[in-house]
Amino acid sequence: MNWLSTFFKKLILIIFPLRCMYCDNICTESICEVCDKIIKEKFCAKIIKTHYREVICASAFAYQGCVKEAIKRFKFKHEKSYKDEFSKLVAKTVKKCFPKQKFDLITCVPIHENRVNTRGYNQSELIARGVSKILGISFENTLIKTQNNRSQHGLNFAKRQTNVDGVYKLIKNLDGKKILICDDIITTGATLNECITTLFRAKADVFCACLAYTEK
Ligand SMILES: [Zn+2]
Repeated sequence: MNWLSTFFKKLILIIFPLRCMYCDNICTESICEVCDKIIKEKFCAKIIKTHYREVICASAFAYQGCVKEAIKRFKFKHEKSYKDEFSKLVAKTVKKCFPKQKFDLITCVPIHENRVNTRGYNQSELIARGVSKILGISFENTLIKTQNNRSQHGLNFAKRQTNVDGVYKLIKNLDGKKILICDDIITTGATLNECITTLFRAKADVFCACLAYTEK
């Protein structure tokens, strides 16, 4: 019956053809040859410093071009399947940027439970869990978001910080632990800064990794 399963597999591909996760064009793999080349060229594994002094973060990409479009689909168009590729790239970034660090655990920037219910997932948690699997370090949720504040999108630098003031609460004892916190996109770093401040207060040693950062 092998021919039958091959036949159905081909039929499914005709009805639901594979699309490249970066350019969204129909192709035979999940990443087309053109984008594969672009992604290798654009991968930067760069340590970025945000406007907030203590936030230093390892980023796989600058948030632009086909990477930006793919992240938008991952975040807003339910393309959860992109998590494997993104986790792989963030894990590679962590190894390159923090080669000697031994982390006790990996965590993520949380989103409010109302948003998890609407979207169905927290994209930063998907990445953090993927990175945890690749690097063999356990994943744990360490923070919750207690207020469903408005999105940071469209807010200026000062308002971004006040918008996230005090919205995260610690849910784990982290005394002295070395933690890697994962986020999707870093813009000013206000969200990440607020999370890190909460983790620092719990006496944790904190490092960050993200998929992309916005260039100023
Ligand atoms: Zn492509």
